[in-house]
Amino acid sequence: MARVLEIAELGAPVIRERAVEVMDICDPQLQAFIDDLFATVADENGMGIAAPQVYASKRIIIISPRPNARYPYAPTVEPTAMINPEMTWASSEMEKDWEGCLTVPGLRGLVPRYRAIRVRYQTRKGTLMDTALEGFLARVFQHEVDHLDGVVFLDRVETTKDLVTEKEWQRIIVQPRQS
Ligand code: ZN
Repeated sequence: MARVLEIAELGAPVIRERAVEVMDICDPQLQAFIDDLFATVADENGMGIAAPQVYASKRIIIISPRPNARYPYAPTVEPTAMINPEMTWASSEMEKDWEGCLTVPGLRGLVPRYRAIRVRYQTRKGTLMDTALEGFLARVFQHEVDHLDGVVFLDRVETTKDLVTEKEWQRIIVQPRQS
């Protein structure tokens, strides 16, 4: 039975550390941990999660976009675990859009990211994948992989004036998009 894990917030040392490569993907404890990550990101309505966000210094992320109250305009994608993920190519083109983070509650920021990327990772069965991502998915991937290197979205905003609170973000960004 998967468990919902406690979220590490800004200030927890693990959030600023480089996470460690996963060597033994087949380890039953690691597989159970991946199930717990899926349960946690679903419980928190997250678009994704990285292992350091639950106090585990491991290079594992989950990408799980779907529309909800926190991200009404997200696409729906089958939740995917990516182990030892890396970006192998990035477009020269960047775009800015709003991001939030379970580790930084109450804030949203306008963050520049590569519009299209090529990525490599292992599945939870150990299969090596090489695939292209763009737009929202590319953004979620870049956000989560940053967590594996001790980087949060606050480090990526061009100016602190691109930070807003969750309440005002709902008022100025989400409501106008829905009407
Ligand atoms: Zn985050």
